[in-house]
Amino acid sequence: MSGAGDAARAGTGAPGSESGRPPATGAAAGAPQLGDLYQELILEHYKRPRNKGELEEPSVEMLGMNTSCGDEVKLQLLIVGGVIRDTKFQGNGCSISQASASMMSDLLKGKTIAQSIELAQRFTDMMHGDPAAAREKRMGDLRALAGVSQYPVRVKCALLGWDTMLQALKKLGGEEEGDAKRRTESGHR
Ligand code: ZN
Repeated sequence: MSGAGDAARAGTGAPGSESGRPPATGAAAGAPQLGDLYQELILEHYKRPRNKGELEEPSVEMLGMNTSCGDEVKLQLLIVGGVIRDTKFQGNGCSISQASASMMSDLLKGKTIAQSIELAQRFTDMMHGDPAAAREKRMGDLRALAGVSQYPVRVKCALLGWDTMLQALKKLGGEEEGDAKRRTESGHR
């Protein structure tokens, strides 16, 4: 406790100095502060993306683009009996777009279409700053992206994979409706 007086006397001393870091520069306030662990997890997914590649026989594939940043994600889904059995993606762009797609590709496996849509909605909530969504366990590694919600320009990057997934499901739904129609028109098949 003898140090308390010294601290009080120091008055305007840099509050960050006890962490052993160099004093913050003026730019620090505007820089991303996602937290070191989260930052690492994002970079990990970026450098070693999960499920990167192509499926032999995808049920559906969709190309998504975020022109404001130049991000691209081509997503493939293998869906059997309403469940996503496998997923692969290819893409390029910023670390947030690619890490988010990688995290998503892991999370979607084994999920039903309804669950996948729900996850997309929760992740969108999270990107719009919903703190409850950012705490949900089922969001997995995606929680590392919660800080992105503070940077509106980057939110599109984080959502690219998910928007592409929703478009793919929509496309698949349309195709299945078409198939069902053809089946009914031509009797049993
Ligand atoms: Zn981006």
